[in-house]
Amino acid sequence: MSKTVIRGGSLFDPSTMKIRPNDALVIDDGRIVDSGDPAGANVEIDASGQYLLPGFIDAHVHFRLATLNFPRLSQWTEVEFGIAMAKLSEQTLARGFTTVRDLGGDITGLRGAIKSGAINGPDTVQAHLMISQTGGHGDVASGVLPVPDCACQMRHSAFGVVADGADAVRKAARHNLRAGADFLKIHVSGGVATPMDPLECTQYTTAEIQAAVQEATNRKTYVSAHAYTPEAIQLAVTNGVKCIEHGNLLDETTAQIMVEHDAYLVPTLTTYKAMAKEGRRLGFPERNLLKNDAVLAAGVTSLKIADKAGVKMGWGTDLIGETQAMQRQEFAIRAEVLTAEAILHSMYVMNPIILNKVDQIGRLDPGLQGDVVITPVNPLEDIAALANDNAVTQVLQRGQPVNAP
Ligand SMILES: [Zn+2]
Repeated sequence: MSKTVIRGGSLFDPSTMKIRPNDALVIDDGRIVDSGDPAGANVEIDASGQYLLPGFIDAHVHFRLATLNFPRLSQWTEVEFGIAMAKLSEQTLARGFTTVRDLGGDITGLRGAIKSGAINGPDTVQAHLMISQTGGHGDVASGVLPVPDCACQMRHSAFGVVADGADAVRKAARHNLRAGADFLKIHVSGGVATPMDPLECTQYTTAEIQAAVQEATNRKTYVSAHAYTPEAIQLAVTNGVKCIEHGNLLDETTAQIMVEHDAYLVPTLTTYKAMAKEGRRLGFPERNLLKNDAVLAAGVTSLKIADKAGVKMGWGTDLIGETQAMQRQEFAIRAEVLTAEAILHSMYVMNPIILNKVDQIGRLDPGLQGDVVITPVNPLEDIAALANDNAVTQVLQRGQPVNAP
């Protein structure tokens, strides 16, 4: 049993969007306790003059994509992956992100290492392998491939599974769920980081999408889909996909259809800025940089359209490898077009729903996990400042202090 008390400062409550004075926040054995007795605490923290926020939540990360240098990534051994992923996971937690949702790539070993305490890292909700069609956004092979001679039509990597036809998609879905996926991730439009698919193409048929949705529903979970274009987003949500990732080319009609189908949107704007800024230096291929420019410009507009239509928006980043250091930049980019309340609502109200953790994270209420970020920044007055290097003074995970960056 361990007890932590944080005294003083001001506490931000996402349910009311208000800040109130903090007398003593007590975390007992990892959970926040109601009118807890601060006596006998093992850890005492003075937060005078600062703000207490629930731990940050990122609804779109990829620990497996541990470097932006894709040619190098394809040659790494499992040990090199392990070292790079462990580093990313420790840095993510130190930046204040106590919970993340991983949108694809095998992170089974990483999750195990975090859970056992071998390394530090956030709690992770995961999709396991991304499911994609041949030539789709999860098909990481370049060049011409031999026609597969296996009847199941499936190809595997540590990142994704290529599956064509409803039966193969069903099998890939079941494989992922068996491996511990908390939800499923499919690709229904072209993407930036893959070699063989134009951005504007639509991927997967109605039957293939429905097969994934049915398997997820049977397992009491849902399907998330990578999609940029209105056509692809509509194809996904009208066939039961619950969450759209990115959505950069969203238009008003499509936003309305998302609202009608009660679908969520997780925009991920930082990643396009990061790739434009750092991509060339870090070895990201030139042809992919061109695709990046196309979605970067549209991304901020899509936020405005989604917000105006009342689409339920989560908070994610989708940063790859070295650029994950820019994770908190998402606060600043969104602040260009959204209010602080809208941004905080995405992170603390919508993300816990998308991660199926409403009773565990997103508020500093009794019974919830003692995940806390201590910051000099008043989030309601200057949310963009949360992107600054010195914005996080202290991170606590289940009441235990984590070294800040
Ligand atoms: Zn992604």
